[in-house]
Amino acid sequence: MRCPYCDFPDSKVIDSRPAEDGRAIRRRRECIHCGRRFTTYEKAEEQLFMVIKKDGSREMFDRSKILNGIIKACEKRPVSREQIDECVNDIERILNNTMEKEISSSFIGDLVIEHLKQLDEVAYVRFASVYRQFTDVSTFIAEIEKLHGSNPKKKNRKTEKAAKVVETDEKQEDPHE
Ligand SMILES: [Zn+2]
Repeated sequence: MRCPYCDFPDSKVIDSRPAEDGRAIRRRRECIHCGRRFTTYEKAEEQLFMVIKKDGSREMFDRSKILNGIIKACEKRPVSREQIDECVNDIERILNNTMEKEISSSFIGDLVIEHLKQLDEVAYVRFASVYRQFTDVSTFIAEIEKLHGSNPKKKNRKTEKAAKVVETDEKQEDPHE
């Protein structure tokens, strides 16, 4: 690797460690000529794909849109930035693994919702409500009712048992509806 300071064509690696959840390698290098240090990243080339929007138009996939949506949904919630990054990494990995050149925005939205459900219940409802805002308002109400219905703080055992059954049923639901 060429030194960015003196342009000498060779440098040695003095430290090497995984970055970005193991998908990249960060190398600390030292120039053999001037002794200055710099960092390089090695990363597999990611497959680029298009997103098919609801109106049928296409745009390049943009990771930051998912990230910003999740950050907004998790505002003032006990969710760390690290958890959010992990979540976005996971979603991106699933999308890349589909090997599709075009992926519908609703598939991506469902993936995000599915992940938020595991991350934080409030963030999940927030995102789901915005995401489905103008397509299906009743879904939002249904989601809220579901949350109330599966509240574990029940007064008697009979209801508790019923609530457990409801919770089990919910888990078996198809996330893509
Ligand atoms: Zn140098």
